[in-house]
Formats: sequence, C-alpha cells, structure tokens
Amino acid sequence: MSNKTLIIGAGGVGNVVAFKCAMNRDTFGEITLASRTESKCDLIAKNIDEKVGVKINTAMVDADIIDEVVELIKKTKANIVINVALPYQDLTIMEACIATGVDYLDTANYEHPDTAKFEYKEQWAKDEEFKKAGIMGLLGSGFDPGVTNVFIAYAQKHYFDTIKTIDILDCNAGDHGYPFATNFNPEINIREVNSKGRYWEKGEWIETKPMEFKMLWDYPEVGEKDSYLLYHEEEESIVKNIKGLERIRFWMTFGQSYLTHLKVLENVGLTRIDLVEVDGCEIVPLHLLKALLPDPATLGERTEGKTNIGIVVHGLKDNKEKTIYIYQVKDHQDCYKEVLSQGVSYTTGVPAMIGAKLILENHWRDLGVHNMEEFDPDPFMQELNTQGLPWSVMELDNPMALKRD
Ligand code: NDP
Repeated sequence: MSNKTLIIGAGGVGNVVAFKCAMNRDTFGEITLASRTESKCDLIAKNIDEKVGVKINTAMVDADIIDEVVELIKKTKANIVINVALPYQDLTIMEACIATGVDYLDTANYEHPDTAKFEYKEQWAKDEEFKKAGIMGLLGSGFDPGVTNVFIAYAQKHYFDTIKTIDILDCNAGDHGYPFATNFNPEINIREVNSKGRYWEKGEWIETKPMEFKMLWDYPEVGEKDSYLLYHEEEESIVKNIKGLERIRFWMTFGQSYLTHLKVLENVGLTRIDLVEVDGCEIVPLHLLKALLPDPATLGERTEGKTNIGIVVHGLKDNKEKTIYIYQVKDHQDCYKEVLSQGVSYTTGVPAMIGAKLILENHWRDLGVHNMEEFDPDPFMQELNTQGLPWSVMELDNPMALKRD
C-alpha cells in the first residue's frame, strides 16, 4: 500500500518533519504539509524540491476547527496525521483523527491557551475513542518528551532490573547572536520556563519556585553548564509507566543573559497571558512579545554550537547498584546544512518522523493513545543512529545529588 502523510504546522519543527519525511519517501508516500499560513508551507515545499528533489503538496488549514481538519484528511486520504502545530491544537486534531479513522502523532501535550498547565489528562481520556475508531495515537514523539522516554525504556530493557532514579538533562549550547530569542515557539517556551518547577519523589510531586534548584553538569562535547530544575511533561507518563521508580527530575540549561532578559520581561508584565486593554484593543502581552521576537524558524543559519540531551539513570542490575548516562549531541550548523534548520527544531522533528515511520511500518502498533516508553525502544534507537541523531551510553560512578543554588 502506498502511504499518504499529512503534516500540520509549518514552523521550525514542521520544516524538519517535512524534509525528513521527503527523505524517507518510500515510507511516507504522498506528503501534504498544511498550516494556518499556506505561504510558509509553500516556501518549505520549494526548499525540499530544491534540496531533496521531492515534490510535496501544501494546504491551508485552521486546526482549531475540527471540520476543517476532517475535510483535509478526507481530501488528502492521509493514513497518518503528524501534528507539529501548537499544543493548543492537540485535541481538535485528535478529534478529527477519530472522526476519520486515521493514526495520530504529536510532540507536545495539550495546553489550554488561557492556563499554562501541561498534563496528559485530556489526551489520555481519548484512549477508548481511539480504540473504538481502530487507530493509535502516539503522544510526545519529539526529543523531550520523545527520545528521552525511549532512552528510559532502553535503559530499562538492557541495563536495569529496577530503575530507582532518573534525571533528564537538556542542554542547548547554541548561540544565535541575538540578545534574546527562543529556539522554539516563544509563547510555548516562555510559558514553560515561567511555570513553577516540580519533581517526583517517593510517590509525591514536590513543587519548587521557578529556577529554585540549580546544578553544574558537565555535558559531553559541550562542557560545564548551569542546569535548572523545571517540570517537564514526560515526567507524568514515566512515573506511571516505570515500575519501582523512586524519583524523576528534569534539568535544562539557561545562559545568564536569557535569564536576565526573561526576568525583566516578566517584571514589566510582558509574559502575562491574560487580556490587557491598549488604546481600545485587547491584547495578550505574551502574544505581543512573540510578534516582536525573532521567529525560531529563521535562527538556523546564524546558530552555532551544539545541543546535548540525555538521561542519567540509577538502579539495580543483578542486585548491584549502577548508573548510566545515555545522551545525544547535535551540531546546529550540521542541521542547517542538511535541512535549513537549527538544532532544537531538528532534534524535535527527526523523532517525530521516526515515530510516524515506525507506526506506518507497523513496528509500533497498538490501538488507543500511548506514550513512547510503552513500545520496544530498539527499532527507534536504531533509526536515531541512521536518521541524524546518533547517541552514546557511558557508565558513571555515582548517581546525581540534588544541590540548591
Ligand atoms: P512554531 O511556532 O515555529 O510553528 C507552529 C506552526 O503551527 C506554525 O506554522 C503555525 O502557523 C502553526 N499553527 C498555529 N496555530 C495553528 C492552527 N490553528 N492551525 C494550523 N496551524 C497552526 O513552533 P515550533 O515549530 O517551534 O514547535 C512546534 C511544536 O513542537 C510545538 O507544539 C512545540 O511545543 C513542540 N516542540 C516539542 C519539543 C519536544 O522535544 N518534544 C521541542 C520543541 C518544540 P502560523 O505560521 O500561521 O503561526
């Protein structure tokens, strides 16, 4: 059967997904890239034609409207929808997949535009409807969530009888030369960073102030970086799916300039997400800020340096304590040369393509709504090595200790 693939969202991540699906055309077949602004899809399609020699279709869709997505799925005869629009569109696109009986994949969990709260509840609640429709949904198939979940499943399968603690370590050491810019959608990024921190220990969620915990971590091929404890969405599914786990935390690096700018923007109210009246118009300050900041999709050419994202896992194997570190390093300029993108979009878009490839090739298939760690990690890990995201494993002497700044 020749597949038909519908990608929704033509930002930084959508660009990478479209490129990589075109580069794996034997699996993805006829590809349509659709988004709210069709001209962005057309530009990506032109670049893919020039660089890869593959023609893809483009379309306009407002994915907030279920009927529009349903109509587009029917028109394209897609057998999978790769959702790389914004988290706000997750539920409407899932509804359209249920109505048309088409598999679904995304990279970020649903958020309501009016509340900066990330949880899987509403997406997991669609499990029965997905089963009844005879389809599968793969949630969070980016890097983190995504590859980090697969790394954990791989550690569980090959290295541990019981996993006790997990630390996810996300470092972007890229420099784009701007005083302040975000590497993925500014609105989603700032909402995430400004939220309270949270980690899970011995059955309880422990809330922290934003950036309350900091530690210095030596990232291979990057060097030592300050890393801050944040809440991140994969923690919710890992706590549910990894039996015997005692603690999970998530750390992300930020430069001092980024943090200082963010503090000032927050202090003057520009990160607020409520409506404010300005000269008779109502605006959300964070939307204004997004419009003023550089578009992450344009950062590729000017970003230099590397990303390094991985997991440190501590646990028991044959009754002996052990700690391993699995990580992936990517150079921003290599991403630009390959698909005209910076590393953060690349490390998100490639796993989205791989997740969809494994579904279409029936390596990962189970009806209902699933997170990445529920499937056999081996085929995904093999694809990472051949699709541009090779990874490494090392043994460490000690698990990480929690330090407060
Ligand atoms: P961008 O803002 O660059 O792109 C988002 C795209 O979605 C834009 O093309 C936008 O259209 C489109 N869009 C927005 N609303 C709608 C709508 N109602 N209907 C149709 N299209 C719409 O974001 P990124 O590419 O940086 O991020 C994409 C997704 O990837 C986000 O959900 C983000 O959270 C996720 N992500 C996941 C990561 C992971 O590791 N798991 C890491 C980084 C990102 P328009 O151009 O008109 O605004």
